[in-house]
Amino acid sequence: MALPFTENDVYCTAFNPKAFLDAYFSDKVGALVNDDYLDFVLKQLVKTFTAGVVEGETLIDIGTGPTIYQLLSACEVFKEIIATDYSALSRQEFEKWLKNEPQGFDWGPIVRYVCELEGQRDKCTEKEEKLRQTVKDVIKCDVTRSQPLDSLLPNSADCLLTSLCLENACKDQATYRNAIRNISSLLKAGGHLVMMGVLEETFYLVDDYRFSCLFYDAGFVRNAVRDAGYVIQDFQVLPRPENSTHLISDYKGYFFLVARKET
Ligand code: SAH
Repeated sequence: MALPFTENDVYCTAFNPKAFLDAYFSDKVGALVNDDYLDFVLKQLVKTFTAGVVEGETLIDIGTGPTIYQLLSACEVFKEIIATDYSALSRQEFEKWLKNEPQGFDWGPIVRYVCELEGQRDKCTEKEEKLRQTVKDVIKCDVTRSQPLDSLLPNSADCLLTSLCLENACKDQATYRNAIRNISSLLKAGGHLVMMGVLEETFYLVDDYRFSCLFYDAGFVRNAVRDAGYVIQDFQVLPRPENSTHLISDYKGYFFLVARKET
C-alpha cells in the first residue's frame, strides 16, 4: 500500500542531511554507492559534460540537497552553478562542504573516482576547489510553485540539473508534470535538462524516518518530459542489482535523462 505523502515541510524538520549522506553516499556502506547508482550516474555525467554539447554560463541544480556528486563534472563546463533546495537543513549541510568546514561530509573517494573517469587522477584538490568557486549561490527553491526560485528571472539558465528530488517533492503524477514545467520556466529555449531519479519506488528511509516517493515507471518520466516541451536526447536505465537486498528503499531501478528544451 502506498505510504501517505511526505509533505515538503517535513524535509525542513525530519530529514537529517548528515544521516542521508552516511546511509546513501558513504564509502563502502552507502546504499547508492553499493547499488551502482553512483557509478552509473557519474559515468553518464562525465559523458554528458565532456561531449561539448551541454555547456554554457549558468547551471541551476534543483533540489541539491546536501550532495555534490552531481556537480563534479558540470563545474568544468559552466561558469556558474546555483544550488537550490527547499530545506534549510539541506542547504546548511551543503554549505558546510562549500565553506570547507571540518564537519562537512568527506566527498574525497567520490571526487577521486570522478577525476579518474575524467582522466585527471591527480586533480582531486583542484576539482573540489573548482566546484567551490563555481557555486555562486545556495538558495531556497520549491518545485511545486510556478516560480520555484524567488530571486532568479525566467529563462536564466543554460542547463537545469536535478537528481532524486521531484519524486520526493511531488504528491501525484499531475504535480510531478507541473513541477517539470515549473522548473523549466528557468531554462532558456535550446538549453538542457539533465535529470536523474528512481523508478518504481514508494519509500526510502533516513534515520528510520520513512519518506514517501512518487511511484512511476520509465514511460511516465519520458512522457512528462516530452509533454513539457523537450526532445529527449539520452535516456538510460539501470535496473536494481540482484544482490541489492537492503530494505532502506524499495526502488526497482534508476534513470538518467538528457533533454533539450525546444520552446
Ligand atoms: N539531489 C540530491 C538530494 C536528494 S534528497 C541527491 O541527488 O542526492 C531530496 C531533496 O529534495 C531534499 O534535500 C529535499 O529538501 C528536497 N526537496 C523536497 N521537496 C522539495 C521541493 N518542493 N522543492 C525543492 N526541493 C525539495
